[in-house]
Amino acid sequence: MDSKRRVIKDGSVLIEDDMIAQVGKSTDVKPQNRAEFEIDAKGKVVLPGLVDTHVHLAQALIRGCADDTSLIDWLQKFVWPLQGNFDAQDGKASAELCMLEMIKSGTTIFLESLLHSRYGFDGIAESVERSGMRGVLSKTVMSLPGYGSEKSIMHPGMIEDGETCLREVENHFKRWNGKADGRIRVWYGARSLGGCTPGLYTQIADGSKRLGTGVTMHLSEVEEDVRYARKEYGKMPAEFMDQVGLVGSNVVFAHGVWLTENEWGILSRKGANVAHCPSSNMKLASGTARVPEMMGAGVNISLGCDGGPSNNCYDMIREMKAAALLQKVRTMNPLTMSAETVLEMATINGARSLSLQQQIGSIEAGKKADLVMISFRKPHLTPVINPVSHIVYAAEGSDVETTIIDGKIIMENRVVKSLDEEQIVHNANDRAAKLLKRAGIEIAPRWVAE
Ligand SMILES: [Zn+2]
Repeated sequence: MDSKRRVIKDGSVLIEDDMIAQVGKSTDVKPQNRAEFEIDAKGKVVLPGLVDTHVHLAQALIRGCADDTSLIDWLQKFVWPLQGNFDAQDGKASAELCMLEMIKSGTTIFLESLLHSRYGFDGIAESVERSGMRGVLSKTVMSLPGYGSEKSIMHPGMIEDGETCLREVENHFKRWNGKADGRIRVWYGARSLGGCTPGLYTQIADGSKRLGTGVTMHLSEVEEDVRYARKEYGKMPAEFMDQVGLVGSNVVFAHGVWLTENEWGILSRKGANVAHCPSSNMKLASGTARVPEMMGAGVNISLGCDGGPSNNCYDMIREMKAAALLQKVRTMNPLTMSAETVLEMATINGARSLSLQQQIGSIEAGKKADLVMISFRKPHLTPVINPVSHIVYAAEGSDVETTIIDGKIIMENRVVKSLDEEQIVHNANDRAAKLLKRAGIEIAPRWVAE
């Protein structure tokens, strides 16, 4: 992945500190002095770190706790009561579990969409710092306890006050934005329609301009978003967001399933981004985003894995395959979305969504050294003819062997160096069991439990 889309055979990448210094044929890449150390990548493919632009860190702990149900029930009966019983220890345990999974499947940066105060922002930010990942952490901003026209359906533990939310974003921004060698960013996480008053959206837009930071929000994920915007505001969802000043290049809208042609035009003109989440949309039966058409209208589209109860994994490699296949079957046209386009969505488009396209998203001299290595010496990745095809259609997250972020080897031969895998998995199992008990929710195998 570079501006020319070169597939370099027998290539080398030279990293100096946190930056890519050279990339090209091995015979051409020459360090000035002898390299401090080398990683042998024979039989392997090096690609840019994957960019997940829609993640819920707190949902890793409730993976598999809300299967086979539709969005509003999913939120009201399972996800909100569970998350509404979180404490800061749960928040940290879930974030660490989630980051472990992302590092192990080649994701080097993520956009967290909605962090409730009760998950413990500082603890999570400390975990991001320790993990070595890049993380864009969006603090939830909301004032109404509903979703669309479904008023007051939110679990009491999830309700927050608008003014307090705004103040907290500013405090977190001051404390954390640009910390961990610039790996951590703090954004606004606006709740979806029915969760904020129009005035609060305007305050978010003003705040993001003042701080020079981003905003992310679920938009037109389900048809209810459209019904609500038309009934309450006489507009389509993106038209309304434009009216309150929340459409711009610093904005990432998650899903965008029900956006219309006119709305694509607004997003395209203002440079706003859409995080497409195919697995989540399929599992919750939310609908099928018209991705190639939106891209044709000039909207930047990146990818997102969403969360533990909606996907149910944080594996961008599997998500790439889902993205390609979903569009093919929707349009009944296998040419509609190529493996190459999908790999762009997972890398350089993701970087653009986060306004980081100058720093990450491709392997080019002068960019940050965020790299992933996949071994192709495996039956399911043989024969090697078109590596892009294998990455999108044949590989899975567990094929990633090495993950490098900011010039540091975070995972080598599948061993994560920055986080204690055994302890995190043990802790997550323990905390999840206690959380279910506290929330009074029983999830058991639906088959005969013995
Ligand atoms: Zn989401």
